[in-house]
Amino acid sequence: MPRYVIDEGALTRNLEILKRVSDATGVKILLAQKAFSCAAVYPLCARYLAGTTASSLFEAIHGKRHFPGEVHIFNPAFAPEEIAEILKTVDHIVFNSPRQVGLYGAAARAAGVSIGLRVNPEVSVATTPAYDPCRPGSRLGTTRPALDAAGMTPLRGALDGLHFHCLCEQGLDELKTVLAGFEARFGDCLPDVEWVNFGGGHHITRADYDVAGLIALLADFRARYPHLTVYLEPGEAVALNAGTLEARVLEVQPQVGDVSNAILDVSAACHMPDVLEMPYTPRVTGAWIAGEAASSPGSRLRYRLGGPTCLAGDEIGTYDFDHPLRAGDTVVFEDMAIYSMVKNNTFNGVNLPDIALRRLSGEVVTLRTFGYRDFADRLG
Ligand SMILES: *Cc1c(COP(=O)(O)O)cnc(C)c1O
Repeated sequence: MPRYVIDEGALTRNLEILKRVSDATGVKILLAQKAFSCAAVYPLCARYLAGTTASSLFEAIHGKRHFPGEVHIFNPAFAPEEIAEILKTVDHIVFNSPRQVGLYGAAARAAGVSIGLRVNPEVSVATTPAYDPCRPGSRLGTTRPALDAAGMTPLRGALDGLHFHCLCEQGLDELKTVLAGFEARFGDCLPDVEWVNFGGGHHITRADYDVAGLIALLADFRARYPHLTVYLEPGEAVALNAGTLEARVLEVQPQVGDVSNAILDVSAACHMPDVLEMPYTPRVTGAWIAGEAASSPGSRLRYRLGGPTCLAGDEIGTYDFDHPLRAGDTVVFEDMAIYSMVKNNTFNGVNLPDIALRRLSGEVVTLRTFGYRDFADRLG
């Protein structure tokens, strides 16, 4: 059976880096659950992080139930039938527009929930439009002209916090650019609020991230605005490179040209949807992504790895191996803890991979297995 294996050691190393940032600066770091929602390791994460943020009622409930700490939520438009339960669950709510503040702000205040507004600093740094919330016409966040047009400035206590989220898998330079834009457009609002949330997309735990530079930037910001609580809410950075997806080769087809199709028991469409959506090619342990094979061995065996579905495009990528692949072999996809389990589906009736945890001791424990009921229960 295929399985995701979450690596407690790698997760802990990421959490230690994040805690170093918060300890050095007093900034609070939240787990953005949309990237990674494995409750079994929430107690571990909670030893290092201040809480969770949610994109929906269900994620908020999940954070509240399993993760001791603060519970934040952002949604572009809250549904009226859910707002009462949301306000019972969270301690911070971030609205997307002045209209949403008008609809729900008073109820939030009455429930003792701190209220914020997501702003759009109109600084595009994300490399693909699909991941750029500042792209022209974006529905995410309120621009300064829109805030002014709504008659909300000066803020005069209308909000407790401001939130921006403009990054995607990015480094310190992009954060500097975005923060400068945010301060240029919204700096005059900052004396009126108690907290600012710098969003996610900070690739803090990537090997080449300038963590010392981030600490300096955050310390400088806090020195300039000592009354503000500052939040970061990374998802990816928490579980980056902290899990794999182990697959099995089911079938190897005859070579055509210089490449053979290998059919696996995992699917890009079902189990690694970002491979098709982003798109990108995940690393495979012990193999080289074709075309990036500068260091690959002289004699290469090239395989196009694909899933067991009927979708022609269910291809994970083309890879060079230094040994022939055979039915029954294991293929390990790297960096599969994030945006994988949270997005997977049973298209074609393909079963979901098991979810396992490699403990610090090396022992691998299965957390969850799936079957027909998980497929059928969602289909009416
Ligand atoms: C997606 C998202 C995050 C987390 O982003 P990562 O890229 O996983 O760090 C945080 N905040 C908001 C508002 C988001 O939409």
